[in-house]
Amino acid sequence: MKVWEDHLDLLVRARTPLIWIRSSEEERVEVLLKRAAERLQPRRLASWDYIEGLQGILNSEGTGSRQPMAVLEWLKNLEATNPTILLVKDFHRFCEDPGISRMLRNLSIHLRKLPHTVVLCSGHWNPPVDLEEALTILDLPLPQEPEIRTLLSNIALQTDSSIEKDVLEELTHACSGLSEIRVRQVAARALAQRGQIGLEDLAEVLEEKRQTVARSEVLEYCVTNATPADIGGLDALKNWLDQRHQAFSNEARIFGLPLPRGVLLVGPQGTGKSLTAKAIAHSWSMPLLRLDVGRLFAGLVGASEARTRETIQRAEAMAPCVLWIDEIDKGFGGDARSDGGTSQRVLANVLTWMAEKTSAVFVVATANGVERLPAELLRKGRFDEIFMLDLPRKEERFSILTLHIDQRRPGLNIPLDAVVDRTEGFSGAELEQAVIEAMHFAFAERRELEESDLILAASQLIPLSRTAKEQLDSLKQWAAGGRARPASVMLSKLTNPN
Ligand code: ATP
Repeated sequence: MKVWEDHLDLLVRARTPLIWIRSSEEERVEVLLKRAAERLQPRRLASWDYIEGLQGILNSEGTGSRQPMAVLEWLKNLEATNPTILLVKDFHRFCEDPGISRMLRNLSIHLRKLPHTVVLCSGHWNPPVDLEEALTILDLPLPQEPEIRTLLSNIALQTDSSIEKDVLEELTHACSGLSEIRVRQVAARALAQRGQIGLEDLAEVLEEKRQTVARSEVLEYCVTNATPADIGGLDALKNWLDQRHQAFSNEARIFGLPLPRGVLLVGPQGTGKSLTAKAIAHSWSMPLLRLDVGRLFAGLVGASEARTRETIQRAEAMAPCVLWIDEIDKGFGGDARSDGGTSQRVLANVLTWMAEKTSAVFVVATANGVERLPAELLRKGRFDEIFMLDLPRKEERFSILTLHIDQRRPGLNIPLDAVVDRTEGFSGAELEQAVIEAMHFAFAERRELEESDLILAASQLIPLSRTAKEQLDSLKQWAAGGRARPASVMLSKLTNPN
């Protein structure tokens, strides 16, 4: 936080008139401002809210209660000998009022000559265009590990309970990604239940994290048991992922390897892209956060950028984690003319983050097509690799069918060669569908699944590859241009077919 606090001090000392601290953690902002005022004496901190009016200034307590304009007037007339930082709570709600907006703009000029600063605090706000110019934005990151460590040990100290050093370390690490209020709640619950904070609280912390993600409009915390063993074929991709997993270790850092950034999986529907995203997270023991790109863009203009920022912040705070950007082509393929450039701006934010990111957030993006994907996204260096998941080849169909039969009728040995031959052009999802359909045939007659059921089911199913042939061909052509690596074939086999 030192860097952040230094930045705040600099802004206040430089007589920045209006600061918007972008955060939903109002209480924490107030504490940080209090500390800033102590550092920057003789400045003092005053706060205002609609109900209580002005607080923290002797003889002016209650000023401007239910009158937002009055508190701004008060500050305007405050002499320079009383330098003040004024935190105006919920003020973003009043800024739609033309009078308040005008007053703030006037203040932004007036206060350049006076040592007063107005601070607004809100995590979600789309300021009126007129006001945008006058505001200086300061993003408040979620509490970082040293802050969480101090917070937890202070709570333990204040309640006369002890906390072991390794427990403190583990809990601190687990709490990263939670707001200060949430950390306090976890601690308070632990103290109420057992009188001390201990390792037993880890489960609670994880639940709290799950809930935090659940409260987010665009992120979903996915629970999955999928492993690479559930994926039939895609050997090259699985092998590559195994290598990248190793690159997360400390040993890899010492060896000089950078943290893996992510992978883009492109392919027709049902070829196992989502399954792969799930298998990565589960087998790497990382939480899987699914980003709903559609929701990122829903709602008010301008809100998308705020949501993107918050989403990135959440994901970073949950690191190490897998951030699964599902159907990335649907969100970022928007027409800049039709959405006022929102998708372009959001994309630019995401790309900058991906390029500069130093946290252990592994991005898995999935897309059905590339024609709508912006070129910047496909450029080398954004993702560690781009894989093309084609329809499964012969051996792959065999292993996918075997997997799905084994999952449902373990130990059953059915000759599959004929089915494999008849399912050319089927995706993994369609092969699974054929197995289930065949099982229905067998179950209706209360007998074991047979080869003929599978053949019948396969013959009745029209695979997407037949109906969407053109789309598939263009995808293959694109991948053949060397832009993506085939997920099925190992490179060594490509260069050496024997
Ligand atoms: P979409 O583009 O429609 O989202 P997708 O490529 O993400 O499709 P999945 O959702 O991963 O496809 O596949 C659907 C289901 O099909 C999986 O849950 C799995 O049961 C089965 N499946 C697909 N590919 C494979 C595979 N290679 N091995 C085993 N099962 C597979």
